[in-house]
Amino acid sequence: MRFAGKILYILSKPIPEELKVELKDIVENLNNTILVKGVGKPELGAKIVSYNVVNNNTIVFNVVSGRRVKIHDAALRARRKLAEILGKKYRIGIRNIILEDVTIELEGEHKVSLKIPYVKNIEVKEGKTLIYLSTLEESDVKKPIIDRLLKLLYEKEQRLLWGGKAEHWYLIKQSGVKGKEQMFKEDPNKILEEIGWIKRFSIGQWIYTPPFTYLLNMVKNLFLEEVVKPLGFEEAVFPKMYPLDLGLRTGHLRGTINSMLFAALPISYDIAEFEELIDYMYVTNKAPPEEVGKYVKPPSYFLCFAQCEPFYQFFSKEIMSEKSLPIKWFDHAGPSFRWEAGGIYGVERVIEFHRIEVVWLGLPEQVIEIRNKLLDRYEHFMDKVLDLEWRWAWVTPWYLEQEGAVVEIKGIEINKPGTIDFEVWLPYKGPREDRKSWLEVGNISIHGTKFTEPFKIKHSKNKILWTGCSGFGVERWAIAFLAQHGFNPSQWPEKVRNYVKKNPMPKPVEAVTYPTTDKGRKKLEEILQYFSRQS
Ligand code: ATP
Ligand code: ZN
Ligand code: MG
Repeated sequence: MRFAGKILYILSKPIPEELKVELKDIVENLNNTILVKGVGKPELGAKIVSYNVVNNNTIVFNVVSGRRVKIHDAALRARRKLAEILGKKYRIGIRNIILEDVTIELEGEHKVSLKIPYVKNIEVKEGKTLIYLSTLEESDVKKPIIDRLLKLLYEKEQRLLWGGKAEHWYLIKQSGVKGKEQMFKEDPNKILEEIGWIKRFSIGQWIYTPPFTYLLNMVKNLFLEEVVKPLGFEEAVFPKMYPLDLGLRTGHLRGTINSMLFAALPISYDIAEFEELIDYMYVTNKAPPEEVGKYVKPPSYFLCFAQCEPFYQFFSKEIMSEKSLPIKWFDHAGPSFRWEAGGIYGVERVIEFHRIEVVWLGLPEQVIEIRNKLLDRYEHFMDKVLDLEWRWAWVTPWYLEQEGAVVEIKGIEINKPGTIDFEVWLPYKGPREDRKSWLEVGNISIHGTKFTEPFKIKHSKNKILWTGCSGFGVERWAIAFLAQHGFNPSQWPEKVRNYVKKNPMPKPVEAVTYPTTDKGRKKLEEILQYFSRQS
């Protein structure tokens, strides 16, 4: 990101000759001090490349700058110094600052809306985007809208640079290869449907009958008992429908709107206002979405997306003390929703899924320590409880990279904000070597101040607060477990077998027409036999 443009300082009096002469030194001084102060590399700062005086009372600087001292920052930085010299020596004040012909150059070809205030024109050519801004006055420059516009442009650039990179997935740890003689090779999603334990409800939604619910609760309870509760996390209940404003603050509405589901309120509480629609549905026995749409307001909510959003909302504007920290909660009070379009598959990738969301708040060292303890317990859970072939990858999203610069992570520094994905091998999908044979079952993140800042979560002694969260996708873990261990509990690892011994499996539905196929019924009998031998 580069800037170029003119900064005009309108003075309160005509410019004396002596000042015109002195300008050369002033400019040199600005270029060597405040315009490059604290920027690391000088090209990230600002530079006055030429200057002149017009209309007797206006100093004009032609400036180029980098992202650390954006041109409007440069204007304000230089103003302070100029005001000092002009005031002391010449008794002249600065009446106004005007920024003219400002262009912002971004790497890469980008779409930028002309509806955005101050954006006058856009030119995309030869792998670069030029954004021409309208003239800005001092009062404009001080508005947060300019900062947000520049942040938006910077993020567009970074996202493209980051996304264009083939790899931002770094293996950090993996289990040994399990030497099982005959690793289970079938697709558990298909078996579950065939034996009637799950039934399609709508696109990407299923009804889980008691036996599959039992399996979900099995992995869930083992995780709670072996990982979450021993570390002292306590259960909370979070809402599952969020006002749009919350998504604005977490950034999800800007970042992932294409995979969010929305909810809308009815146009009125008076049923009389729906009479025409009701009559229409009555007679046609149809409910066309376009017709129904006329009777609801525009969406004012989105459905639970990341599941930790209400946590930040809860602590928003609260002041925490040493004694109240760290906070360690988890929520599994309801489903999460994702629009996955063509990616929907089995119960692995659904529109409505279930997750245990573990979330914590504290001083940076507390947040790191909690994450590290969780990692230890996760490892125990994957190895000793579920006995899986797994791997962990550092997948820090571009916006958590501190510098924003695209960096090659060599020795990964995991004690900084970032995300680790947990993946499990699905033998039914193909060989371990194939990236597509692995399923992300969960992840763990340290957010730094990504949420404590916008939500204004404060510390009584003004210390910095961080947050972290970890999502445990219940369907994903269940599928991963079944994909490697199959449906015969005698083949399962000890802790899971013990769970089955202690907790009897509920009866499946066996109706005249259900499960639907002969193959499915046979398979069901076989699996029921396995389970009966366990009790
Ligand atoms: P993927 O890359 O597989 O789409 P993601 O990066 O979108 O996953 P996150 O946003 O990190 O997933 O969500 C946290 C966890 O929620 C995932 O690790 C997974 O266990 C679960 N999850 C996410 N999307 C789905 C889905 N559509 N169906 C089932 N579980 C899901
Ligand atoms: Zn989260
Ligand atoms: Mg996803």
